[in-house]
Amino acid sequence: MTDDDAKSPRAKAAANGRPPCPICGAKMTPAFRPFCSARCQDVDLHRWLSGGYAIPARPEDDDDEADRPPPPETES
Ligand SMILES: [Zn+2]
Repeated sequence: MTDDDAKSPRAKAAANGRPPCPICGAKMTPAFRPFCSARCQDVDLHRWLSGGYAIPARPEDDDDEADRPPPPETES
């Protein structure tokens, strides 16, 4: 085994460059991580609140499962 991994270009880039702000793509500011500013932080929060990031809901055809008896418990 070698620790080439730590020296790989990819690891280097991750250490040197900060990921850009997910909202506007500007440079991330540590204080507002992972955003660049309080404004983008706010934008993200509003997206959450307004359901922009809603977890994709499963279609309602899950009923199939409810009709089935629970699987036998095979603990040991
Ligand atoms: Zn931003």
